Amino acid sequence: MSKLIEYSLSELVSKLQSQEITSRELTEAYIDEIESRNEDLNVFLTTTFDRAREMADASDSRIKAGQALSDLDGIPISLKDVVCTKGITTTAASNILKNFTPPYNATVWDKLESAGCVLLGKVNTDEFTMGGSTESSAFGVTKNPIDPTCVPGGSSGGSAASVAAHFCAGSIGTDTGGSIRQPASFCGVSGLKVSYGRVSRWGCMPMASSLDTVGPIAKTPEDCARMLQIIAGKDPKDSTTPEQAVPDYLKNLGDSISGMTFGIPKEYFTDGINPEVVSIIDSTKAIIENLGGKVVDISLPHTKYAISAYYIIAPSEISANMSRYDGIRFGHLGTEKESLEEIYSSTREEGLGDEVKRRILIGTYALSAGYYDAYYRKAQKVRTLIKQDFDNAFEKVDAILCPAAPTPAFKIGKNDGDPLLAYLEDAFTIPASLAGICGISFPVGFSKDKLPIGPQILCPAYTEERALQIGNQIYNAVHNP
Ligand code: GLN
Repeated sequence: MSKLIEYSLSELVSKLQSQEITSRELTEAYIDEIESRNEDLNVFLTTTFDRAREMADASDSRIKAGQALSDLDGIPISLKDVVCTKGITTTAASNILKNFTPPYNATVWDKLESAGCVLLGKVNTDEFTMGGSTESSAFGVTKNPIDPTCVPGGSSGGSAASVAAHFCAGSIGTDTGGSIRQPASFCGVSGLKVSYGRVSRWGCMPMASSLDTVGPIAKTPEDCARMLQIIAGKDPKDSTTPEQAVPDYLKNLGDSISGMTFGIPKEYFTDGINPEVVSIIDSTKAIIENLGGKVVDISLPHTKYAISAYYIIAPSEISANMSRYDGIRFGHLGTEKESLEEIYSSTREEGLGDEVKRRILIGTYALSAGYYDAYYRKAQKVRTLIKQDFDNAFEKVDAILCPAAPTPAFKIGKNDGDPLLAYLEDAFTIPASLAGICGISFPVGFSKDKLPIGPQILCPAYTEERALQIGNQIYNAVHNP
C-alpha cells in the first residue's frame, strides 16, 4: 500500500470526503516529509506549518459537520512564491523582496483558501519567474527530487518539485513561456498551462503581461482538472479574464479519445533534440493510436522564429513591469541615497540578480525610440504569424502532440554563464505561450538515466477540458492500464 503522501490529489479528495483520513493527519504527514527532506532539496522558501495545522483542523470540523467548502476542502498545497499571500512573506525569489509581506491575497489563493485548501508554504522559482531551472533564484537552486544532481526545471521548479517530492498534493505555478509544462516534464508530474485569461493573475507578480498565465501542477491530469475547477473564471480585478463560462472540467475526463486527430509538428524535431525525448513522443503516439486516435504530421512553419520573438517581447514587458521596484514604495531600499537616481540604481543593483538585470536592459533597449519598430513591433508581427500557424493546424487536428523540452532534466550548472543556451531550452514551450493557447504535460516514461520525460499536448484556446481529457486518457493508459 502507498504511503499517505504518495496518493494523488484526486485519491486524497475521496479519502478526506469519506472521512477515511483527516486533513490534520495528512498535513502532519506532509510536514514530516518536508522537515526531513526540504533542507536538501531547497523547495520551500517559507513554510506556514502553524497556519496549515489550524486550517486543517478547521477543515476537519467542516467535513465532519457535512459542510465541506468544496471537493478540495482539507487538501494541502504549496504556492509558487510569486503568488501574493496576505501576511505571509512573498519574495519572487529575489533579494529585492526578501522581506516583503503582501497586504492582500492573489485571487488564485483567495479562491483556493475559500475552497478549504491548506497552505503548507511558498516554493522556489527563478527570480521573478525569469528562467527555466530555478538557478536564477536568489535563494539557491531547487534540486530535482528524482535526481538531486539535476535541476527541477523552471521557473515553477519549486512547485513541480514540491509535488514530485510528496511535500503536498498540488501546487500553483505560473507559465509565461513554459514554466509549468517544462518543470512538470522534468519532475515526472502533471502541469497545465491555461489559455491566456482563463485564470486570474491578480496578485501574482507579473513577468510579461501579454504572456503570463497561472495554473496547477499536481500528480495527474485529473488532479489538475480539480484545481482548475476552483481557480478558473472571470475576476473583476483582472480585465484579461473574459466572461466565458467555466465548464465542468471533470465531466469529460473519462471519455474516450477515439476518433480524435493529433498533429505532430515536424518543426519540433530539430537537431538539438535528445533521442530519448523523441522516443517518448513515439510511445505517446502509439498509445494514442491504441486508444483509437489518429496521428498525422503537420507543419507549424514559423516555429523557428518563436525564441527570437519571445526574447524581444518578454524582456520588453519585463522592463516595464520591473519599473515598480524602485525601493520607495516597498521592498529593498538601496544603500546609496544622495539622489533619486542613486536610490533607483543602488536599490536595483543590490536587489536584483543578473538574469533580471539582463532582461531589463534588453527590454529597455528594444522599446526605446528608434528601435521599437525594428524590434518590438516586428516581434509582435511574428507572434501573429505563429498564432496563425496554430489556427491553421487546429482546423485539421483536435490537438498537437510535441515534446515539452529538448532534453530530460539537465545537470545543475550546465548552462552557467551562457544565457543563450538557456533560452534555447524554451523552444518547444514558447510558441504556445505566444499564441495564448493551452497545453498540458504529464509523465509518460523515463530516460535511460531514469529521468522522467513528459510530452506536451496543445489544444486551442479555452479548450482546457479537451487537454485534460486527453492527458487523463493517456496518463491512465500508461499508469493504470
Ligand atoms: N524559461 C522561460 C524564460 O526564461 C519561461 C519562463 C516562464 O515561463 N516564466 O523566460
